[in-house]
Order: sequence, then structure tokens, then C-alpha cells
Amino acid sequence: MSVTETDVLIIGGGPAGYTAATYAARGGLQPLLIEGPQPGGQLTTTTDVENWPGEVAILGPDLMERMRKHALHYGALLLSEAVTEIDLGNAPFRCTVSNGDVYKAASVIIATGAQARWLELPSEDVYRGFGVSACATCDGFFFRGRNVVVIGGGNTAVEEALYLTRHAANVTLIHRRNQLRAEQILQQRLTSHPRVSIVWNSVVDEIVGGGSPLHVTGVIIRDTQRNVNFTLPCDGVFVAIGHQPATELFRGQVTLDRDGYIITQSGSTATSVPGVFAAGDVADRQYRQAVTAAAAGCMAVLDAQRFLSDAIYSGAQSRVA
Ligand code: NDP
Repeated sequence: MSVTETDVLIIGGGPAGYTAATYAARGGLQPLLIEGPQPGGQLTTTTDVENWPGEVAILGPDLMERMRKHALHYGALLLSEAVTEIDLGNAPFRCTVSNGDVYKAASVIIATGAQARWLELPSEDVYRGFGVSACATCDGFFFRGRNVVVIGGGNTAVEEALYLTRHAANVTLIHRRNQLRAEQILQQRLTSHPRVSIVWNSVVDEIVGGGSPLHVTGVIIRDTQRNVNFTLPCDGVFVAIGHQPATELFRGQVTLDRDGYIITQSGSTATSVPGVFAAGDVADRQYRQAVTAAAAGCMAVLDAQRFLSDAIYSGAQSRVA
């Protein structure tokens, strides 16, 4: 077991984490980024990204590899281990990784992201990135003039469905109950939209498709009231059944909201623990974009920098003791 000290420890290898690492490295903070065993985050499971500024189209995994190299280029230390334990009780904060090594840090940036919840159907895995998505803002544009379905009944599902009407010819919302849980105003917008239909009391049992390149041709739906199956032809499937922020490690240490997202102070990335900052989807249920996560990664470093220099001015001999 070795013990390493750093001023800035960044946890999470997605757009927020890599951007934080680049800013911190260029700022001379010699950051250490723990990427996790599968670096890249949610973008590694997408295909084309067409809304990253400066790139007309880039594959999600390529974009992440570029961000990773960018951080390395400026001297960030990247570690492909998983965090197994973290103690944010007292500074310096202590973080243990899967090989038993310990990192002590004067400040921590949490950028562990969130995972979209999926239906867990084998066919969903087959077509993910080939017609199945969990992000309408990211992928809606690929379905211009096509027919799409959205699965779910919460705010996200209704917002995704309404967003998709900008691109798709027809949008069908499939919900497992006969009542939406989305806010009334959103429900009204949805039900009054001429190109949206709703299939109630129904679940998707299978996503069907084929061809080369692989594409979706429909969904097999089960009406749970009548217990009958039918196929609805469509070109795209948007799964919107919620997200799960990756915050288990931090539960009880920083303040989380009721859904497990880290609460940050308004206009800042500061968490409830001085010196601990949160950036990206782990603290953002609203925007969830690569570009907003990256922006938050930058903000977190600027906040950490200020925190560290305040610590020096307040008389600390060494930031990591
Ligand atoms: P929610 O948990 O609110 O809704 C998830 C929806 O998916 C529910 O309708 C649920 O059905 C359905 N669902 C869950 N699991 C399955 C499954 N296995 N198969 C089929 N359907 C399933 O998640 P959201 O992402 O919509 O919202 C999360 C939080 O973020 C909420 O608090 C929401 O209000 C908030 N939010 C706010 C926004 C805003 O203010 N503009 C925008 C987006 C989110 P059932 O209803 O039967 O449980």
C-alpha cells in the first residue's frame, strides 16, 4: 500500500472529470484523476455526438479519448482504479482505491456522473446507439421526420417526448400505468400536442430491428390490462425511466437530495463539505449534457483553486498534512 498526497483529487472519468483535470493541470495544481475501471463515462456508450462545440460530428468514445489525452498532455495524473472508500470527515480527505493505495487530498472534485436507468432487455443492449437512446437532446436530431417512441411517465419522459416533436414526425409515449407522474403543465402540453399519442398500461417487451447498419424497426408492446402483445413500428426508442447518480460512496458524507444527487450551493460547485466540490451529472438532474458537465468541471477547479489559496492565506503551512 502506498500513500500519495495531492492538492486536487478528481473522481470520475467523464467530461466533467477530464475538463477539471485539464484546468487543474494547466493551473499548476498537479491533479490526480481517478478514472474508474471503465473511463469515459456515458459518452462511451453513444455513437455520433453532434453538439460538442467545434466538432460537427464526433464519435462519443473518440471525444472522450481526446479529452483524456488533453488532460494527460498538460500533466494530469490519471489512475484507472475504482474508489473503494472515501473519508470526507476531515481534511486532508482520504481516498482508498481498489489496489489498496491511499490518496490524501486537500480538495476533492466529485465527478462520478449518473447512469440512465434502462429497461434491462437484451434487445435494448443490441440497439443502444443504433436507434435506442436515453437522451433526446443528444440524439433527437437523428430522427428528423421519423417515428419515435418514448418510454416512461415522469417529467423526463414528457420533456423528452415534447423535445422530440421538434424533429420526429410522430412521437408515441408508452407508459406502464394509466396516469403520468409528470407535472400537470407538462402533461397538458403533451396531451394537447397533435403529433403525440400515448399508449397507457403498457410495457415494452422487446425492441426489434436489424439490417446493416443496424437500426430499429419497432417495439413489441404488452398491454398489461388485456395481456395482449402488439408491434408498434418505429425508428427510434428513447428510454426515460429515470437516472441514478453515482453517489453511494458519498452517502452520509456530503448532503444529497432525495434522489441521491449531490446538492451544491447556488452558483457554485461547493458541496456541504468545505473543500469538496461536485461537477457534472452527479449534481445535475436538469441539463445532463457533456458540455454542461465539462463547464461544471472547469467551475469546480476554479472553486477549488480559490479554496486552496484561502487555506494558504489563512496560515496553513502545507495544504496536505
Ligand atoms: P421519475 O422517477 O420521476 O419517473 C420515472 C418514470 O419511469 C415513471 O413514470 C415510472 O413509472 C417509469 N418507470 C420506472 N421504471 C420503469 C420500468 N422498468 N419500465 C417502465 N417504466 C418505468 O424520473 P424522471 O427522470 O422523470 O425524473 C427524476 C426527477 O427529476 C423527478 O423528481 C423529476 O421531477 C425531476 N425532473 C424535473 C424536471 C423539471 O423540473 N423540468 C425535468 C426532469 C426531471 P411509474 O410512474 O409507474 O412509477
